[in-house]
Amino acid sequence: MRWLHRLKDTVSSQIRNSAARYSGKIKVTCGTNTEFRGFINDGTQHVVSIYVAGNAVVVCCDCPAREKRVFCSHIWAGLAAAESGGHLSRIATMRWPSIRLEGVKGAAAVQFEPPSRPEKPTPWKTELSALRERVAPAWSGFTEPPRQIFYTVDSEECIHRSALIVQVEVSRLKKDGGWGKPNWHEIEIRCVSQLDEVDRKLLGILGSDVTSGSYSNFIPDPDSVKSKRRVPRGAYDLLIPMLCATGRFMLEPSGLPDKFQPLHWDDAEPWKLEVTVRKDEQAEVFVVSGWLKRDGKQLPVSEPRLLIPGLVFFPDHVARLDEGHGLQWALLLRRTGDLAVPFANRLEFMAEIAQFSVLPSIELPEEITIHPGRFANPPILRISKPQYSAPRLCCEVAFDYGSVIVPEAQKASVVDDQATGRLVHRDIAAEEQARNRLNLLGVYRTSEYSLGRGKWEVSPSRVPALVRQLVSEGWRVEAEGNLYRKAGAFRIDVTSNIDWFELNGHAEFEGEQLALPELLKALGRGEDMVRLGDGSFGLLPEEWLKRSCAFGRQRVTPA
Ligand SMILES: [Zn+2]
Repeated sequence: MRWLHRLKDTVSSQIRNSAARYSGKIKVTCGTNTEFRGFINDGTQHVVSIYVAGNAVVVCCDCPAREKRVFCSHIWAGLAAAESGGHLSRIATMRWPSIRLEGVKGAAAVQFEPPSRPEKPTPWKTELSALRERVAPAWSGFTEPPRQIFYTVDSEECIHRSALIVQVEVSRLKKDGGWGKPNWHEIEIRCVSQLDEVDRKLLGILGSDVTSGSYSNFIPDPDSVKSKRRVPRGAYDLLIPMLCATGRFMLEPSGLPDKFQPLHWDDAEPWKLEVTVRKDEQAEVFVVSGWLKRDGKQLPVSEPRLLIPGLVFFPDHVARLDEGHGLQWALLLRRTGDLAVPFANRLEFMAEIAQFSVLPSIELPEEITIHPGRFANPPILRISKPQYSAPRLCCEVAFDYGSVIVPEAQKASVVDDQATGRLVHRDIAAEEQARNRLNLLGVYRTSEYSLGRGKWEVSPSRVPALVRQLVSEGWRVEAEGNLYRKAGAFRIDVTSNIDWFELNGHAEFEGEQLALPELLKALGRGEDMVRLGDGSFGLLPEEWLKRSCAFGRQRVTPA
């Protein structure tokens, strides 16, 4: 890792520029993590020595600058040579390194040597020296002892985050030649460039840092990665086989690496989660249990070591998982074991099942079958004025499942029809179609986060056409408590005698009758709806309205 730039601000640019002429001309006599010595010959030989003491980088040069107690360019050249030679690497780990001249105390100790002859930097030289800084290798100078990387599945974090969390662990070679216990607590893997190719590749693509987003004021080291990674589900098919192929991918191991149980990749079809409810006649209970099923094989849900979305872990292998909506059920049943519900509580049990917004793949006994549901009648729309003055009208939508009317907003996916004692699946496709129909006719659901909070709304100008259209399609439409009825049969009976005939007729509006004279009066007034006997409104069909002129003329023509 480079560290010279961290000292730059304590030294004038003139010193640094004039140090450039010594580049490559320093003979190193001693170089360690914390110490550096070398000599420079610019006609006279000068010895530069540098060492780390606490937070200070103590520097010294034996040229005349030493007597003046000032910082000379030989020292800067020495620092640059130390960095490019990989010496003094301790400076990279120091938080706030400062430079101190040997034998001079205090922060003000660093003074700058007045340039003896101001050298005009030539442009090409400036460019080259800047380039030298940029191309210096991103090598920390540390050489890590031999390491072995382990990829372990952190079960607790996986369950907590409902995702695959892999903790990368480092085991170091011991003095006796064996691998040491991995260090579970390292939050960073450093010197990634010194690892084997397969680990370098894996660490490069192994998901995102779980702790990212946490505040850190350290400059990130380009050669290290965080050790706790979240692997996205879309990458499982690529990454899990790679992890297994290392032979160093495992569920939290304990002890020393030679005892670890690596995981193998089971490349077969995914296991599916299924919940079954079966009857135990002897104990008179329904038994709820969870299963993993694949290719006619089934395992109790308690058998795997870990279940997360998309993956199931066994002691020695990991396989795909198609959890459907069953993962939470499986986790519950793993914790509690099978659930027993007494026969006597059958109805309550059914009512509980009916409240789930989604159900897993579930096998039920005959007594608790969930039947496919169908609308008994077309949907219901109620339009009302908003509570507060708002430009749009509120709408409520409900679906008619026979003896149960289900509000559109209700979350449960199953209807508990207590009149028939049956559980019925809501007809998702028909409900969706009804919602699409409303959208087409200008009824929209507001955003969950808006003032309307996910309610349906319509603009008042759209209402007449909306009501007419939906009523003609059989919907039950109420506006401000008024029900609108569709016109049905239209009957005219003519009773005749020798010298008179009588015209008797009525129009039907869904069971409500309207006598012919009333109908003709309404048509004569050009109205498009008429109040019926029960207080509801009958919608007059367009074609009647078109013909009303003809009707009117006939009526006034004397017989
Ligand atoms: Zn000097």
